[in-house]
Amino acid sequence: MREDQGEIEAAATHALPRLIERADLRGDLHVHSDWTDGKATLEEMALAAQAAGLDYLCFCDHSQALAMTGGLDPARVLAQIEAIRELDSRLEIRVIAGIEVDILLDGRIDLPDDILSRLDFVTASIHSGFHQSRDEIMKRLLTALRNPHVDSIAHLSGRLINRRAAYEVDLDTVARTAAQTGTFLEINGSPDRLDLDTASARRAVELGATLVICSDAHRPREFANLDAGVAEARRGWVSADQVANTRPWAQLKP
Ligand SMILES: [Zn+2]
Ligand SMILES: [Zn+2]
Repeated sequence: MREDQGEIEAAATHALPRLIERADLRGDLHVHSDWTDGKATLEEMALAAQAAGLDYLCFCDHSQALAMTGGLDPARVLAQIEAIRELDSRLEIRVIAGIEVDILLDGRIDLPDDILSRLDFVTASIHSGFHQSRDEIMKRLLTALRNPHVDSIAHLSGRLINRRAAYEVDLDTVARTAAQTGTFLEINGSPDRLDLDTASARRAVELGATLVICSDAHRPREFANLDAGVAEARRGWVSADQVANTRPWAQLKP
């Protein structure tokens, strides 16, 4: 917090927040498996999440538009839901069926509503059209935020550290809309992303948005990304009550 962003003044009036800690996280809501571009099975990932001290794990593999990752079409989504239910029935950790669904170039969501409604958690994200104008990007994000099936927006800015700049986002409008619709904004703990960045995370919670901190793990060791995500949140002055996955799964959604 020692970045000359008001911390001295806050400390002088005993108004520093109690920052979130890694131990506050109860679950992870964005990981992949070998059903798409992950490198481990559903069971290997679930056991790794349990070993990382989590109570629940939500798989959010890619949707069909990301063909190069083997993204899931409707039939494979339904098959994966069955596989996840079977796993959940025999493991100690709660295992949940979600999707990382693409926000298409025109703002449409990459899977039909009747498929989204079968899933327990839907995170939506942009993986294409990075050179679109700010207006075009915002139209896509606002459409996704207002979709009642969408629970969370992943890696909002699209930046890949040292490889790809963020596209232009009107963060204040996104955060205000997310606060209204009850859609979560993700801090993605992948070291390539750390997205939301520190300033955006702080601003988003100031405007009333609720965050989630996720690993985007593609292999078991990447649950360590949660540590980086929590560090990012702490630099953004985020407290545990502003992060939804500090709650038990049954109380996660507003
Ligand atoms: Zn993604
Ligand atoms: Zn992902």
